[in-house]
Amino acid sequence: VVGGIGYSGYVLWDARHPPLQAPFDPEKKTIVILGSGWGSTSLLKSIDTDLYNVVVVSPRNYFLFTPLLPSCTVGTVDIRSIVEPTRFVTRHKSREVKVYEAECTEIDPVSKTVTIADNSEIKGSVDTSKIPYDYLVIGVGATNQTFGIKGVQEHALFLKEVWDAQKIRTRLMDCIETAGFPEQAPEEIDRLLHMIVVGGGPTGVEYAAELHDFLVEDLTTWYPELAGKLKITLIEALPNVLPAFSKQLIDYTEASFKEQNITIHTKTMVKEVHDKDIVIQQADGTLAKMPYGLLVWATGNTSRPMVRNLMSKFPATQKVGRGLVVDDWMRMEGSDDIYAIGDASASKYAPTAQVASQQGKYLARLFSQLAFRDHLEQEIAAMTDEEEKQSKLRKLAKAKNIKPFHYSHQGSLAYIGSDKAIADLPWGSGNVASGGVATYVFWRSVYLSNLFSLRNRSLVATDWIKKNVLGRDISR
Ligand code: FAD
Ligand code: MG
Ligand code: MG
Ligand code: MG
Ligand code: MG
Repeated sequence: VVGGIGYSGYVLWDARHPPLQAPFDPEKKTIVILGSGWGSTSLLKSIDTDLYNVVVVSPRNYFLFTPLLPSCTVGTVDIRSIVEPTRFVTRHKSREVKVYEAECTEIDPVSKTVTIADNSEIKGSVDTSKIPYDYLVIGVGATNQTFGIKGVQEHALFLKEVWDAQKIRTRLMDCIETAGFPEQAPEEIDRLLHMIVVGGGPTGVEYAAELHDFLVEDLTTWYPELAGKLKITLIEALPNVLPAFSKQLIDYTEASFKEQNITIHTKTMVKEVHDKDIVIQQADGTLAKMPYGLLVWATGNTSRPMVRNLMSKFPATQKVGRGLVVDDWMRMEGSDDIYAIGDASASKYAPTAQVASQQGKYLARLFSQLAFRDHLEQEIAAMTDEEEKQSKLRKLAKAKNIKPFHYSHQGSLAYIGSDKAIADLPWGSGNVASGGVATYVFWRSVYLSNLFSLRNRSLVATDWIKKNVLGRDISR
C-alpha cells in the first residue's frame, strides 16, 4: 500500500498523492484528456496509469454532478455537496496525473498539440502553453443552444454550471425582495414574480419542480403576501414535455404540474427576448408578450467554438454541427488519435451523463488494449524464432480486434416536484413512479454511476435533512 489510510480525514481507502506516485515516463505514450465532466472523469477514474502518462485540462478543477444542479437553484442542496475536485480522483492513481486548470483553445492535429489558456484573474492576464499528445480525448461537453434568438444570451439565465445555479438563486431572491418593496406597482409585482422556464426537457422540468417546492415549502411561510402571486410558466416548442419519456409518464407529469399550478405552454416558440418580457408565438400562430422577472433557458446543446474550429479542419469527415462525428470506437472520423465522448460527440445516443460516463469507461479499456497491442508489436519486431513469432502474430490479431462501444441504458429519471420522481426503467414493468426526496437522491446517484462519491452522497443526505428540519436558507 502506497500512501496512508485516512489521508484526508474521510478517505477510508489507501490514498496516494503526487509525492508517492510514479513520475511521468518518457517511454510511455501521453493521453491528454480535455474536460472534467461526466465523460472525462469516468475515463480518468478507470484509466490504467501504469500504461500511460495522463494530462487533464479543464477550466474547472472539479467534477460536477449535474443531475442535482436544479436542486441548488433554490437551496435544497448545497453546491459544495455536488462537486468533487479532480485531484480527489487522480490521487488514487499509480502514476502522477497532471491536472491543469485551463481551457483548451485550439487543437492542432498535425503537430499533435493542444493550446491551453488560463484566463488568470489573479494575474490579470491570459497565459498560454502548448501540450503534446499521443492520444487526445475530447470530453468538453457542449454549450447552450440559443437558436440565435435575439436577447437570449443577454437576458436569460442558463442552468449548466455551478455559477449558473448561483446566478439563478440571486436573481430569484432579488425578484422576491424587490416585489416586496413598499408601494410596488401591482403589475410590476406580477412581472417580478413571473418565473419563465424555456425548454421542457428534464432540466427545465426539474428546475420548475424545484421552484414550485421552494414556493410551497418556504416562500408561503416567509412571504405570505407575495407567495400567492408567484407564477411559474414552462414553455416548450414540441407538443409535449419530456419527449424522451413514455406517454404515461408525460401525462402524469403534465397532470402533476397542473395540480402544482405550473402552467405549461406547448407548441409555443420564443421569438425574441427583452429585459423584462419575451415575445412568444402560440400554437395558433399569434404573437404575445409575456412579462417576466426571471427567465431560465434550458433548450439543449450545441457544440463549443473550440470544437467547431476543429470540425472545420476536417471538411471531408466532419460537418460543423451539434458534435464531433465518431466511429463505434469513439474515434473521431478523420483522425487516428483523437477521440470524442459525451456531449462533445454526435452519435445515435442522447446527450446524457449516463452515455458520457459509459463512453469514458469504455475508452479506458480501449486504451489498455492499445497499449497491449503496442507491446506485442514491439516484441514481435525483436523476435527471430519464426514459430514463436507466428503465435505472437495470432495474439496480435486478437488484440487488434477491439470491441466497439456498447451502451447499456439504465433508465431515465426526473424529479417533478412535491417529493415525486418519475422513472422509465428498461426492466420490470417499464414505468415506475416513486416518491420521496431521499428515494430520489439515492436512486439518482445509484443509477447514474459511481462517480458520485460516498462523500458527496453523505453531504447531500445531510443537506436534505437540514432542509427538512430547518427549511431552506432564503438569504441571497
Ligand atoms: P460535461 O459533464 O458538461 O463536462 C464538460 C467538461 O469540459 C467540463 O469540465 C468543462 O469545464 C470542460 N470544458 C469546457 N470547455 C473546455 C475547453 N475548451 N477545454 C477543456 N475543457 C473544457 N444526464 C443524465 O443522464 N441524467 C440526468 O439526470 C441529467 N440531469 C442533468 C441536469 C442538468 C441541470 C444538466 C445541465 C444536465 C443533465 N444531464 C443529465 C446531462 C449531463 O449532465 C450531460 O450529458 C453530461 O454532463 C455530459 O458529459 P460530458 O463529459 O460530455 O460534458
Ligand atoms: Mg467530460
Ligand atoms: Mg459534468
Ligand atoms: Mg485559472
Ligand atoms: Mg433590491
